[in-house]
Amino acid sequence: MGAPKRRSPASKSKNKRKPDYVMGPVPRDIFSLSHPEPPGPSARSLPELERLELLVANPDLYDVADKVFPARTPGTWGRRPAYPPFIYMILLAAISIFDTAEMACASFQHEHIWKTVREGVRQIRGDAAADGLPETGPQRHHWHDFRPKMLDVLQELREASRDAWINQALTQGLLARKRRGTLVRPHRSQVITGDGTVAKPASDQTEEFTIDKKTGELKLHRVDPDATMQLEGGDREIYGNKIVSFSVRDECSPHSRVILNVDTARHQSEVLDPDRQEEARVAVRLAREIRARAPGNHTIVYDKAWRGKHRAPLIRSGLTVFTRQYDGLKPQPLKKYRYESAGCTHDVYAAEGRACDRLLTVDGKTLYNPIPVKDVEFRDGNESRFYHVLEILCRYGPHTERIPVYETREDQTLDPRTKRPRFNRTEHLRIVPPGTEAGERLIGFRQDSESTFSTLDETHRLRRIPAYGADGALLIYIGYAWAKNSVALGITRRTR
Ligand SMILES: [Zn+2]
Repeated sequence: MGAPKRRSPASKSKNKRKPDYVMGPVPRDIFSLSHPEPPGPSARSLPELERLELLVANPDLYDVADKVFPARTPGTWGRRPAYPPFIYMILLAAISIFDTAEMACASFQHEHIWKTVREGVRQIRGDAAADGLPETGPQRHHWHDFRPKMLDVLQELREASRDAWINQALTQGLLARKRRGTLVRPHRSQVITGDGTVAKPASDQTEEFTIDKKTGELKLHRVDPDATMQLEGGDREIYGNKIVSFSVRDECSPHSRVILNVDTARHQSEVLDPDRQEEARVAVRLAREIRARAPGNHTIVYDKAWRGKHRAPLIRSGLTVFTRQYDGLKPQPLKKYRYESAGCTHDVYAAEGRACDRLLTVDGKTLYNPIPVKDVEFRDGNESRFYHVLEILCRYGPHTERIPVYETREDQTLDPRTKRPRFNRTEHLRIVPPGTEAGERLIGFRQDSESTFSTLDETHRLRRIPAYGADGALLIYIGYAWAKNSVALGITRRTR
């Protein structure tokens, strides 16, 4: 018993049919990069005490606590809490600094640590607030009393935190509205990376009772009510709740990453939700929430869970969306171009995310030759539009054509034969095609975003988030994001 049965999803990809066509080489074009990305900054590790100092110096944390936990009439919460809500917010975030809630409370009993917290309160809220605090920090029973109150207003806490984090990013100069770099090679501070990760519960138990085979003893286990088998990174299956988050960081400043938004994608097993629809849907919602608060033609990077239908509305909202291409898509006919003066025709298809010249090889195979893209055009508006300017190579000299790479009105109209939208354009044509240098650069940023999670993992003993249930995991993640963002805020201020 114990660990749940794991089904290897690798077998699925092994059975995948090989394409019955050949792709031509990736041409040198606008997606080729003239110089590599400068290596990322190596961040020095920060001692616990320094992280706590930066945390208690973050004024936004206090404001969000006041907003989400306003002073309520006595009796609403039963016993009056002995500490103001911002102390519990500090404690929540400190869990990721001190590994567990137990250790955070134990640390808050230490004279020096508690003095650090009170000094932070003094700087932000003044002498009266600092001197009004009890002589020692909250203990475990205080935390256990207050945690359910946090869970009661979890979505309000998530939303207020999200708004504060996005504002912080803007203040740090991240997600500037005016474009830095180019559409194809955006500045790092304008690339939002997202990830779905599995928050492993404090226990792998799926059975409430087990029988010890040797002694016959019946054992009771605590079972996470929300956790199920989840896919992480698309191929590893782990037991837990899925957390989706987005972040952004600056180019050359260590510890500048700001987590912008987070939520849980509710439990769906791979059998019930093989394409990770639930995760993809939550990720689209979070991306739109960010876009509404930080407008601009930013680039957003996610994984293959985002298909054409997820990308289309985000592209319409003005975001450049990049993901790897979903495997096994069939090339789609785009248009047959006829040039009377030269007397030539070009059969243009969409294959592997970009426009290709369809040709036949000498041994009768279909060859899709990627057409060089000279330029990517962007038209801002209520509905943003993106175009590729193609340079169709020809022995009579190149032909220039412009094709939309956003979902057009015509694409959305129903085909009378199939009763389905005419063309799922954002599935087959990509603003930045995967497999190009520009695309690989963006993927590199996302891998870096995964290190957010390894930091989270390292922060917690046994690589587990010490919380039961999807809500419990989200609460811990919100605290973790506050601790991380407070570091980004403090270090950025220091270096300026
Ligand atoms: Zn031609």
